[in-house]
Amino acid sequence: MTSFSDNLLGWYDHHQRSLPWRSDDPNPYYVWLSEIMLQQTTVKTVIPYFLKFIETWPTLQDLATSSLDDVLVAWQGLGYYSRARNLHKCSQQLISKHAGQFPKDEKQLLQLPGIGPYTAAAIRSIAYDQPAAAVDGNVIRVLARYCALTEPRPQLDKKVRERLVAFLPDKKCGDFTQAMMELGALVCRPKSPDCEACPLQGHCRSVNDPESLPTASIKKKLPTRYAVAYLVQREDGAILLRKRDEKGMLGGMMEVPTTPWLDQKPGPNVVKSHAPLEVVGWEVLEGYVKHTFSHFHFHIHVNRIQVSDQSDHHQAVWVQRENLHQKALPTVMKKVISFGLEKVK
Ligand code: SF4
Repeated sequence: MTSFSDNLLGWYDHHQRSLPWRSDDPNPYYVWLSEIMLQQTTVKTVIPYFLKFIETWPTLQDLATSSLDDVLVAWQGLGYYSRARNLHKCSQQLISKHAGQFPKDEKQLLQLPGIGPYTAAAIRSIAYDQPAAAVDGNVIRVLARYCALTEPRPQLDKKVRERLVAFLPDKKCGDFTQAMMELGALVCRPKSPDCEACPLQGHCRSVNDPESLPTASIKKKLPTRYAVAYLVQREDGAILLRKRDEKGMLGGMMEVPTTPWLDQKPGPNVVKSHAPLEVVGWEVLEGYVKHTFSHFHFHIHVNRIQVSDQSDHHQAVWVQRENLHQKALPTVMKKVISFGLEKVK
């Protein structure tokens, strides 16, 4: 074992947080679920979601036999909904092709929906104690600093992986992976790292100026897309929602009907031609809703409309306001509804 892993594991023994998916005898289902949830999200945010999932679907089999709609509703607020769709699909493939077991082999893991190199390595090391290099943002930050790696990303990632492989211990592999992440989250933080408390301080090459690394990558300017949303309310207050296509962005989630999402604000003809049902009254609300996805900003203008036909439609449903939380509504659509209802108070 290297002194690097000795020091790190010794620190982890005393400082690891007690988290609901951690155990001396890790459950691969819990490991996978937590790792998928933790992508792009903090531990604090994930804990209640994780607890809710394992209460609702205690086993992989339970998740595989659930409906995608229920999973999407439970996922609401965690964002990046393709993760929830892949989670559901992956659970079904594990049952149908792998007898309900997570494969230990990297190639087989990588063939499963939603499992990339990082998650495969995390499952192999944490659930099966195999030496596998799980490189996430925390690990990149710690090793860029520890080894004084000055390359920008993505070139940096390859260097970090090489260094991490060299540091992997031959036992306590799961603890090592979790200790790297824990150190990045608790000690070698992006801002104000606590080098005094760091078990790697003795050989770290960045103690004098830790925040200068990793080198910031140049951020691309995000484009802006536009749409008009139709807030349609029935006399009894119910709101018209429809389901998005299963494929593509926010696939399978519910939405307030909108025009297509375009590179410029839709003109009056586009707005009229995409209105749901037959419109008998329009009110163009002042202002607009702003939302940012990972690859574009989104400006949504809201039109409140009255329609002649208030019966049920196979592609759209009327949902009472108090029942909106039961629907898989992405954050952007919650914002649109709040904005629209606020404006007409
Ligand atoms: S000594 Fe400081 S910069 Fe180096 S790994 Fe530890 S916390 Fe990070």
